[in-house]
Amino acid sequence: MDNKTKILHKGRMSKEHYGIINPPLYRVSTILYDSYDEFLGKKPKEYVYGRYHTPTTHALSKALCALDGGEEAYLCPSGSAAIATALSAYAETGDHILLSDSVYGPTRDFAEQYLRPKGVEVEFYDPKIGSNIEKLLRKNSSLVFVESPGSLTFEIQDVPAISHAAHSKGLVVIMDNTWGTGLHYKPFVHGVDVCIQALTKYVGGHSDLMMGAISVTRKTKAKIAQTHRLFGQCVSGDEAWLALRGLRSLAARLAMHEKNGLEIAKWLAKRKEVMEVWHPALPGFEGHKLWKRDFTGSNGLFSILLRPCTEKALAVFLDGLELFKIGYSWGGYESLILPKNPASERSAVPWQREEILLRLHVGLEDVEDLKKDLENGFSKMEKINV
Ligand SMILES: *Cc1c(COP(=O)(O)O)cnc(C)c1O
Repeated sequence: MDNKTKILHKGRMSKEHYGIINPPLYRVSTILYDSYDEFLGKKPKEYVYGRYHTPTTHALSKALCALDGGEEAYLCPSGSAAIATALSAYAETGDHILLSDSVYGPTRDFAEQYLRPKGVEVEFYDPKIGSNIEKLLRKNSSLVFVESPGSLTFEIQDVPAISHAAHSKGLVVIMDNTWGTGLHYKPFVHGVDVCIQALTKYVGGHSDLMMGAISVTRKTKAKIAQTHRLFGQCVSGDEAWLALRGLRSLAARLAMHEKNGLEIAKWLAKRKEVMEVWHPALPGFEGHKLWKRDFTGSNGLFSILLRPCTEKALAVFLDGLELFKIGYSWGGYESLILPKNPASERSAVPWQREEILLRLHVGLEDVEDLKKDLENGFSKMEKINV
């Protein structure tokens, strides 16, 4: 079965619940024991405490395993919490860890502001390093963190090559697969050992919840399970229920985000105001070949480089948009635009572009309306430029 089918059918408990299609929402802390024997563990008990699995969070975890092919999926209250937990599991004092220079900003912050002061050697590497990562591996290296495509700049990483080098020295590979979702990128097939996804984005899909998942292989399960438990990570039944609901329509929404995203990307590439379009599925994009080799699709998130202009002109453009709103995050049904200078989030490969980077999230609106909206913004900008 394709995992598009599996994510519709895993985690349902219709038989136990009157034939109702969706699992019930359990809000849980205490779970009572039947007897002293059960308390002592002499009789098996599936659920013991709200912080561990509940039927609702369990349903979501099972469906997530169907999504990305992991052995188990551990839930955290945000994508960032999932990243912090996974990194903490494999970064001890005295260890050396390698992170792609294009990682999500808060991932960099966690490594620099939490792990480094604890005595972890944190090194950032060129996202396009491929098998040359081998030259950076040291005796005390414990993990390589990859994120592909990179946040803001969309570099596609050669994850199989990086994993091959890392595994030959006994390191684990942790991936942020939020863009690829599991439908368009299969992390474990490409050598990843621990996979993180911000469910806040496309799985949630409606800009109304925060959550992260850590998916594991048989090899990494025990270590992640322990760290997840020691950190007290858990999510509420309400949020898990919403995430599961979002997951059921993920494939349909992604197909539409992908179609709209590509059309807007191609349209923008023809505009004189736009110097470059950084979209992995565009043949002219640097990482396109690798993307085509390893991914099976794209979505609505990409960046453009706007021809340099005054702050005033930029403000007129952004404020002139009605459908593309300024806001953090992405993956909801609506279009967003985010002006962001990556300079403070790059060290191995310093940011040296003059142009203005805008990250777009193309939503599920009618694509002609979206073009009109951008056209409007550009013409307002043009008026004040002359
Ligand atoms: C948003 C995001 C995260 C963090 O998710 P939160 O739920 O906002 O903490 C992690 N990685 C990537 C690539 C993201 O875009």
